[in-house]
Amino acid sequence: MPDSGLRPAVFLDRDGTLNEEIGYVNHPSRFHVFPWAGEAVRELNRAGYATVVITNQSGIARGYFDERLVELLHAKLRADIEGGGGEIAGIYYCPHHPDGKVEAYKRDCDCRKPGSGLIRRAAADLHLDLRHSFMVGDRFIDVETARRAGMPAVFVLSGYGLGEYEYHRHSWPHQPWRIAQDVLEAAHAIVEHGAEAHSAGVGAHPASAEAKKS
Ligand SMILES: [Mg+2]
Ligand SMILES: [Zn+2]
Repeated sequence: MPDSGLRPAVFLDRDGTLNEEIGYVNHPSRFHVFPWAGEAVRELNRAGYATVVITNQSGIARGYFDERLVELLHAKLRADIEGGGGEIAGIYYCPHHPDGKVEAYKRDCDCRKPGSGLIRRAAADLHLDLRHSFMVGDRFIDVETARRAGMPAVFVLSGYGLGEYEYHRHSWPHQPWRIAQDVLEAAHAIVEHGAEAHSAGVGAHPASAEAKKS
């Protein structure tokens, strides 16, 4: 474990990773957290990881729902995770889209995944150690987000995962560190083998891998 005083983190995608993927969640009644999500977060917390949710919510820019609804969903997400014994350190979302209909959110931002803006913001707010962190998600953009942030990715087969994996993985320009059935299996992989991934430099940028050796 790092001695920098910074906490390592596991960045978790939301839809399809922590809750059922149903497309745009435009009402709380459609938001269903996976029953194993709380246990997954609890196991990561026990192993010393802060858990941070990072999610693209372009439905805000598209005018499908507003930030108040997203905040309601996030209160439910936190409550369900806490019910399973886990604690979420932060939830960060990108409300933007370059083709959005709502003028206030129509923009080419750096926080929409696979951009690393949300991860950098969380790292500054929560004093996170990105060099010992991970990203978990059900879409290739989550793998790409991890690559840009210089960390290993666990790809989960829940949500869009199985379809993306079966039909598209051959065209992925880079592969995730691990494949897991769901976020609970991803948590186990990180807790049991995460240290190996970082000591092998998986996902690290060439520059930081060099720095590590010296
Ligand atoms: Mg997802
Ligand atoms: Zn954004």
